[in-house]
Amino acid sequence: MDKNLQQLESLIGKKVQIDVLLAKYTTFKIGGPAKYFFVAKDNEDLVRAITFAKRLKITFYVLGGASNVLVSDQGFNGLIIINKAKDIIFKKDNKVVADAGANLMELVNETVAKGLIGLEWAAGIPGTVGGATRGNAGAYGGQISDNLIGCEIMRGSKQFILDKKNCDFGYRDSIFKHNNDLIISVEFLLQKGDKVALQNKIKQILAERRDKQPLEFPSAGCVFKNVFIDSTNEEKIKQIGNLPKEYLERKKIPAAWLIEQLDLKGKNIGGAQISDKHANFVINIGKATANDVIQLISLVKMKVRDTYGIELMEEIEYVGF
Ligand SMILES: Cc1cc2nc3c(=O)[nH]c(=O)nc-3n(C[C@H](O)[C@H](O)[C@H](O)COP(=O)(O)OP(=O)(O)OC[C@H]3O[C@@H](n4cnc5c(N)ncnc54)[C@H](O)[C@@H]3O)c2cc1C
Repeated sequence: MDKNLQQLESLIGKKVQIDVLLAKYTTFKIGGPAKYFFVAKDNEDLVRAITFAKRLKITFYVLGGASNVLVSDQGFNGLIIINKAKDIIFKKDNKVVADAGANLMELVNETVAKGLIGLEWAAGIPGTVGGATRGNAGAYGGQISDNLIGCEIMRGSKQFILDKKNCDFGYRDSIFKHNNDLIISVEFLLQKGDKVALQNKIKQILAERRDKQPLEFPSAGCVFKNVFIDSTNEEKIKQIGNLPKEYLERKKIPAAWLIEQLDLKGKNIGGAQISDKHANFVINIGKATANDVIQLISLVKMKVRDTYGIELMEEIEYVGF
C-alpha cells in the first residue's frame, strides 16, 4: 500500500480516497483523477488535512464548488481537498460568519430570509464562500468584498483574522490569489432591509441568469475577465470602430462583446463550444476534454490579440496543468 496514503490517513484520522475522477465534482464535468482525495466535513478536517499534507510534503489543492476551475485531463498528482465545512452563524448587529465551504447560494438564501441586505446580488453564483472570496466574485453591481469585514485564514501554520483592508481586493482579485492562504471562514456586515423586496430581487436575478446564460450545459461560468480601459490601452481601444460609447464611459469592455465581434459564438473544438447564448461561456456540449477547452481558449485569446491588440485574461483557474 502507498506509504503516503497510509500516513495521511492515520494523521488525519479519516479515510482518504485514491484515484477519484474530478470530472464528477467540477461544474465543467471535466477533469482527470486526483491521486488522493479528501472531503473535509468541517474546519477541523480542513485544517488537519492541510497541516498533514504539508508535513508529508504532499502537494495539495483546495476546492470549494469547483465552479471556477478547469482541471487537466491528467488530473492532479497530489491531494485534492473538497471543502464542505458549511456552518453559517448569525451574530448581533447584522453580522454573519460563514465557513469558507458554505454554499454561497445557501448563504444568500439564509441572509435574505432574515431580511438582511448585502448578498442578494450573488443569487445564482454556484460554489462556496471561500471560492467567491478568493476570486472576489461579483455580479449585478455587487462583489463579495462589498460587505466583507474580515476572513479567518491559515497562513503557514498560523491561523488568524485578516481584516478586509489587508485582503487586497480588486476586480476578481484578492491577496489570496497571490499567496497560499487558506480561507477558513468569512465575516460579513449586512444591513436590515425588506425581505419581500429582496426575495423579488433574487427571483429577477435568477430569471435573468436563465435567460442570458447557458445554464443547461456544464461550464465554469465566464472564462475571461472583462477588460478595463486605462491609460495603457485607451488609445488602442478608441480605434475599435463599432465600440459602444457606454463601454468607453464605463471604462470597461465585456469580454463577451469582443468575442462576439469575432464571430466566435457557436465555435467548437471537440466537445467544447463557445456558447451561442453568452460568448464568454465555454460550454461542455458532451465529453469535452480539458484539452478541447484549452484549445478554444487559446483560439479566442489569439484572435482577440491579433484583431484588437488586447490580451484577454482568464477568470477561471487551472488545476493540474
Ligand atoms: C453557471 C455559472 C455562473 C457563474 N456566475 C458567476 C458570476 O456571476 N460571478 C462570478 O464572479 N463568478 C461566477 N461563476 C464562477 C464561480 O461560480 C465563482 O467564481 C465561485 O465563487 C467559485 O467558487 P467555488 O467554491 O466553486 O471555487 P472553486 O472553483 O472550488 O475554486 C476556485 C479557486 O478558489 C480557491 N479556493 C476555494 N476555496 C478556497 C479557500 N477556502 N481558501 C482559499 N482558496 C480557495 C481554489 O483553490 C481555486 O483556486 C459562475 C460559474 C458558473 C458555473
